[in-house]
Parts: sequence; structure tokens; C-alpha cells
Amino acid sequence: MTQSKQRQQALAPLARSEPWDMLIIGGGITGAGIAREAARRGLAVLLIEQKDFAWGTSSRSSKMVHGGLRYIASGDYKTTLLSVRERERMLTEADGLVNEMHYVMPHYKGKFPPPWIFNTLLRVYDRIAGKRYFKYFKKDAFLRLNPNIKQDKFLGASQFSDAVTDDSRLVMRVLDEAIHDGAQAINYLKAESLITNEQGLVVGATLKDTASKDSDQTYNVYAKVVVSATGAWADTLRMQASNETEQSFHKQIRPSRGSHLVVSQERLPTSQAYTFLHPTDKRAVFVFPWENRTVLGTTDLDHPPLDDQEVGITNEEVDYLLDATNGLFDDTDLNREDVIS
Ligand SMILES: Cc1cc2nc3c(=O)[nH]c(=O)nc-3n(C[C@H](O)[C@H](O)[C@H](O)COP(=O)(O)OP(=O)(O)OC[C@H]3O[C@@H](n4cnc5c(N)ncnc54)[C@H](O)[C@@H]3O)c2cc1C
Repeated sequence: MTQSKQRQQALAPLARSEPWDMLIIGGGITGAGIAREAARRGLAVLLIEQKDFAWGTSSRSSKMVHGGLRYIASGDYKTTLLSVRERERMLTEADGLVNEMHYVMPHYKGKFPPPWIFNTLLRVYDRIAGKRYFKYFKKDAFLRLNPNIKQDKFLGASQFSDAVTDDSRLVMRVLDEAIHDGAQAINYLKAESLITNEQGLVVGATLKDTASKDSDQTYNVYAKVVVSATGAWADTLRMQASNETEQSFHKQIRPSRGSHLVVSQERLPTSQAYTFLHPTDKRAVFVFPWENRTVLGTTDLDHPPLDDQEVGITNEEVDYLLDATNGLFDDTDLNREDVIS
């Protein structure tokens, strides 16, 4: 079959004459999850994505399935409870795609957090999960397993457990399940504008085929419910539907960027995730194993207004991540030549 025939076949569901029950704009984890839940309930669902599925944030995360440890520190036990339950469910339902990963927090004399504070937090975390994951390693025991960690003023390390995944594969798994239950999902279709009725309610969207670069072909698609699962791009469609100007429109999204570096396991071997505070600004950062490589992350910066182009890392961010890592491991001395991605 030729490529254009394949594309025509992929676009065939757009010929549907009656409105869809639900049109979902955005093929990240949010859109995929909504499509799955709606299809399971028997709704006629169409999901569209402007690029490839999971092209947005959902393929560029830190790959962690957290149980919400940091929410305990802010007193939000409910969010922790929900996140922990979800983590345990994903570990069971998506075994092999969502896997348990150990995290360690090394403790140093005079540095925050001291072991007793962190360990109290971890005991509460385990209690909420109904599991006993937490372990404390005394100095010598930890150094036997992690000889490359900086030893000056080192006290010991706390270990807890969360999970790790391949974020884009997770989106594909959830989408597959949605499709299995009857949803239609088409990539390389961009919602260019929303269609409103006389009362100003959104009843559909005008979609552009972004796979055929030389075609101006658009499709008007109608639905009883239109869901914007456009993540960091959400304001663009909202503004479009509001009839306001860029100046008067009240934006709800403040786009931010977090960058990661990938280095080889030969240069920085890891069998578990390390979490620690960056020496400069005390933000929590991670070094963790992923797909036979080691990942360092992240930065956290405001990002200029988003378009649909690739987002990149700056030199300052590279230095920030290398400095953090070199500060934790003795004799590692990672530099730019070590960066694979
Ligand atoms: C640096 C960083 C690290 C993170 N790490 C973690 C982590 O370790 N664990 C975790 O659980 N979460 C993490 N997150 C959060 C997580 O990645 C996001 O919450 C999640 O990916 C958001 O998914 P989404 O589907 O809402 O958005 P996205 O994945 O961004 O999906 C939105 C999609 O909408 C599409 N779209 C936009 N406009 C249109 C349009 N007009 N027409 C068609 N399609 C359109 C985009 O192309 C995009 O694919 C991290 C986030 C960041 C930034």
C-alpha cells in the first residue's frame, strides 16, 4: 500500500456523519487516559494529535511513577494516598512497563535533610502505601555498595521505593487499550480552531492534516464534548475559543522547561536512583538508570511562549546538571564530551 493510501485509510474515521460523543485534542498521557476511560464506557471517541503520539511532555518526563512523597512534606496526605494507590496499581497492571526502582538520599553532616527528618517522612510514606520499602544504610554499608559517592562528612543513606517507566510506551499502551475498546486515534492532525454554536459553546474543531505538508486540506469534526488535553499548549486553544486578543486574554498556563542529560553507564554506573539537593539552589535533582544509560535531571526554568517546535537545552543548564552530579560522585568528573543526549 502506498503512503498516501495508508494516510487516506488512517483519516477515514473523519468521514463519520453524526457527531462524535467525545473529541479529544492532544495525544499525550492525559488524552490517552481520557480516551481509554471514555471508550470503556461505550462512547464514540476520536482522539487527535498534531505530531506523533506522546510528542509533547509525555515522552520527555523523568520517567518516574511517584507515589507523591513531596506532598507529605506539604501536608497534602490525600494526594499522596491517591498517588501511592495509583503507583501500586500501575506496578501490578503494567508489570514490565512500570517497574519498581529504589531511590537513595545520601546524608551529609550539616546538610539538609538530616536522616531523622527524611526517615520519618519515609515511614509515613510506607504507612500510606501499606508496604515496608524504607531502609536506612549506615555509612560503611552504603559505601560498600556505592564506592564512588563523595565520602567527606557522609553519614549514611535512606532508601525508599517508587517506580520507573518508559513514558512514551506507556502512552502507546493506554492508547492501544482505548483503541481496543473502540476509540479512534489519529496522529498528525492539528486542531487549528474550535467551532462554536450560536450560544458560543464549543461543538467541534477544524482539523488540519500536518502529515501532508503541501495540502491545505482541513476537516470539520463535530462532537457533543470537546476535551482539550493539550498540556502546556492549552492556552492557545482557549484563547482561540474566547474571541479575545492576545493582550486581553487571561493566560492560565506558565510554560516551564526541565532538561535532562543522558550519559553512559560506563562513565557513571547506577543501579538505583540518587536523589539529592543541588549544591547551588537546593532544588531536588536526580541521577537514575534508564535503558542502560544514566540520566541526570532536571532543571526548572520558565520557557518562552510555546509553539510546536522542538525545545532545547542551554549551556547553563548543561553546566548546572554536570555540577550537581560531579558534586555527588568522587572522581567522576563528567564533562560535555560524556553527554550522549
Ligand atoms: C521536565 C519534566 C519532568 C517530568 N517528570 C515527570 C515524572 O518523572 N513523572 C511524572 O509522573 N510526571 C512527570 N512530569 C509531568 C508529566 O510529564 C506531565 O504531567 C504529562 O506528560 C502531561 O501530559 P499531557 O498529556 O497533559 O501533556 P502532553 O504530553 O504535553 O500532551 C499534550 C499533547 O497535545 C498536543 N497538542 C497541543 N496542541 C494541539 C492541537 N492544537 N492539536 C492537536 N494536538 C495538540 C501536543 O502535541 C502534545 O502531544 C514531568 C514534566 C516535566 C516538564
